[in-house]
Amino acid sequence: MFRFPDLPALLGGTLLQAPADPAAEVRHLLLDSRRVGAPAGAAFVALRGPRHDGHRYLPAAYAQGLRLFIIEAGVELPGGLAAYPGAGVLAVASPLAALQGLAAARRAQFGGPVLAITGSNGKTIVKEWLAQLLAPDEAICRSPRSYNSQVGVPLSVWELTPGRHTLGIFEAGISEVGEMARLAAVIQPTEGLFTNIGPAHDAGFASEDEKLHEKLRLFQGPGFERLFYCHDQLAVRHAVARLALPGFSWTRLQHPEADVQFELLDTAPGVANSIGASYDGRRYTFSVLLPDAPTRQNVLHCLAVLLQRRVEPAEIQRRLSRLHPVAMRLEMKQGRHSSYLLDDAYNNDLAGLALALAALARQARPGGHTVILSDVLESGLPPAVLYGQVLALLQQHGVTRLVGIGPELVKLNKLKVKSEELKEAVEASQQALAADTEPIAPSSIEPSEAALLTFNLKLLTETYPGTEAFLAQLDPLDFANQTILIKGARAFGFERIVAALQAQQHGTVLEVNLDALAHNFHYYRQGLRPGTKIMVMVKAFAYGSGSYEVASLLEFQRADYLAVAYPDEGVALREAGISLPIMVMNPAPDSFELLHRYRLEPEIYSFERLQDYLATFTPTPNTQYPIPNPENPTLPPSHPPTLPPLHLKLDTGMRRLGFEEADIPALAALVQEHQLPVASLMTHLAAADDPAHDDFTRQQLAAFARMAAPLQAALGRPVLRHALNSAGILRFPEAQLDMVRLGIGLYGVDASDTAAPDALRPVSELRTTISQIKTLPAGHTVGYGRRGLATAHDRRIATLAIGYADGYDRRFSSGAGTVLVRGQRAPIVGSVAMDMCMVDVTAIPEARAGDIAVLFGAGLDLKELAGRIGTIPYELLTNVSERVKRIFVTE
Ligand SMILES: *Cc1c(COP(=O)(O)O)cnc(C)c1O
Repeated sequence: MFRFPDLPALLGGTLLQAPADPAAEVRHLLLDSRRVGAPAGAAFVALRGPRHDGHRYLPAAYAQGLRLFIIEAGVELPGGLAAYPGAGVLAVASPLAALQGLAAARRAQFGGPVLAITGSNGKTIVKEWLAQLLAPDEAICRSPRSYNSQVGVPLSVWELTPGRHTLGIFEAGISEVGEMARLAAVIQPTEGLFTNIGPAHDAGFASEDEKLHEKLRLFQGPGFERLFYCHDQLAVRHAVARLALPGFSWTRLQHPEADVQFELLDTAPGVANSIGASYDGRRYTFSVLLPDAPTRQNVLHCLAVLLQRRVEPAEIQRRLSRLHPVAMRLEMKQGRHSSYLLDDAYNNDLAGLALALAALARQARPGGHTVILSDVLESGLPPAVLYGQVLALLQQHGVTRLVGIGPELVKLNKLKVKSEELKEAVEASQQALAADTEPIAPSSIEPSEAALLTFNLKLLTETYPGTEAFLAQLDPLDFANQTILIKGARAFGFERIVAALQAQQHGTVLEVNLDALAHNFHYYRQGLRPGTKIMVMVKAFAYGSGSYEVASLLEFQRADYLAVAYPDEGVALREAGISLPIMVMNPAPDSFELLHRYRLEPEIYSFERLQDYLATFTPTPNTQYPIPNPENPTLPPSHPPTLPPLHLKLDTGMRRLGFEEADIPALAALVQEHQLPVASLMTHLAAADDPAHDDFTRQQLAAFARMAAPLQAALGRPVLRHALNSAGILRFPEAQLDMVRLGIGLYGVDASDTAAPDALRPVSELRTTISQIKTLPAGHTVGYGRRGLATAHDRRIATLAIGYADGYDRRFSSGAGTVLVRGQRAPIVGSVAMDMCMVDVTAIPEARAGDIAVLFGAGLDLKELAGRIGTIPYELLTNVSERVKRIFVTE
């Protein structure tokens, strides 16, 4: 299709080196060497952003077996061209443009209809629903989840395959002027749908009007036939008219010019609503659940499309009734026996599978990566091709165990057994031939099934005909320590498997949003000068958020360093498979051997600690070293050939830990004498968040520079220096030096009030449920010590399933604390007890037992809460006790 040597003709650029295979075809596009495995025909496109450079990963990609590279002209390849023997290397002016160009060429080859969706909100849901609603008529290629950017759109469109798909549905999102024209060139839509215009992503546009016109550029190419839109949106209607776009519109306000007139017939909350629709002189009624305004709009957009396509009304109703909610995020849950579950139990198509597998591959666990997978339904592919692709995907993503559920997978497994029998039979017959006896006929295999055998079916050993059969024999211990992706078509009801494997919980959870965490990480990283590294503090269970999950995400996001407080914390991270360098701030005197064994780097803050370190690693005649462990060769031998890296902490004013200025000459002498492998020099600021102490902070920074200089001279080489914590990064950018140490900011708290409002996203939500609600007559008291004083009026008091043993501070007693119930604030009444507390919900009459109560999170800011009880957000976060279940979500 696209032979690599032909690409210059298509994309421009120069072929710096022809691939060893002159017929090499580009079949897959990879941007990220972090995706494990290199399928045949994969081309690595090296993109460069302000803080990210894909070229850095070329050696890793080459080592993984990739042999096709598209790079930016003029960029020096790491190691030079000679480091990539046999690889095809194409240099282009803009690799992003090349990626888009390839996708555009693929789109042109497809030739069929493509529907593009844009607008401010609802794009992903409308896309997913249209895909569900049109699935009976069309073989659809659609963007996975919300892949709608300059990079995501070409990757999605690249999947369009002539002969296999009959319709493409892609979403397009933009954040500044000029972007839509590029997406339009890639998608080349024949139809469009405009969801709505709202304030989302406003920054890149001068006005609402500019944004609208930019978005509508998607629909102005040759061959564009029809734009679906809502006639009642005035700005959209006018713009469509002004641009004379061919339109198909719907109204709820009885505009006679609209193509479809909708009418909501009943709107009782929670019940099936009826929609009247008049189109083309006929009138129909449909019933569908419409709980809120956004859902209503999304459903009406979809209905308009179905009506225009003249799907039979009875058939429309049948499809509407089967419409299911779009799970927008992949939930990560704690499983039983130290396993983790990635819950994606709602659909199972190939694009979604690839994404879920990528998320799985990011989780490093000692127990390996398991996938529980149902038959893939409605793929439009012959089984041989389909499961060949599925198994190849699983292998590329390092999956170590597969549990297959469904008749197709059982059949495949049987076939595999048959193929092994066949092999044995063939071998036996060859032996028989050699022995000149009668050959044994191999057991027969249908020719159509033979194609399957060319795929590697090794993974497929455990299969069950259905979910019940699997549950009947399930022992959760079989899945101990594993990371398990649970992914099944809806009909298989995999939520029952999730329930069976999930750790037991009481009603209180801390939900950690990993996407918000990644967002905050990028926010701080964006503000760094090029070349400044970032160390992330994951001490204290990552500020209460779960060290392993946070560390794993940071490793994926390419943080440079992690830091923990104690050796145990570092050991736990290593045992969970984290490979980033880790600094340990408080090494115990006898911990150096252990630290070395786990490649943990101690922070040395005193001469005593330095003596402990040297005593451990400098052999004396009577030192006994444990013998290396031959059963675990991955651990280095206990007797280190050289001294391991260490970090020196200098005290410039915190007066807590660290060498003082007077110690520096002696320290420098030791550094020189022992040739200490100093990995970095650091200091900690006492008041970086407080403008009142800025003079002091500057004195600290100056002292650090003074003290670091002789140490650097003693080392005779440059060494990393770092001083700034989260507040410092934002307030003293000139002191970023070689590295910064990000802490609380990662978790969404701006300790210094320097970031723009909403620049950081809240990461954690602590929530519980209402166990019971009582109506209390006037004059009654609440709780221990009768501290919930009597009032002169009747009250409704809700008891929440959380107390100080969960980490909900007792100082929140008697009105100091407040929680959110149904989005409204309810004050704490009486004393917070060990496992429970009470809130007054008199002002929230709709509150019910079983409702969720949010203790902190979006809408209930940690800083405000901390202020109410005279503490700091750090304490509220780290206090959440281990018995509170953490759930991790990603969008
Ligand atoms: C905890 C810690 C940090 C991070 O501080 P934040 O205020 O959370 O950003 C930085 N450096 C050291 C030495 C720390 O102990």
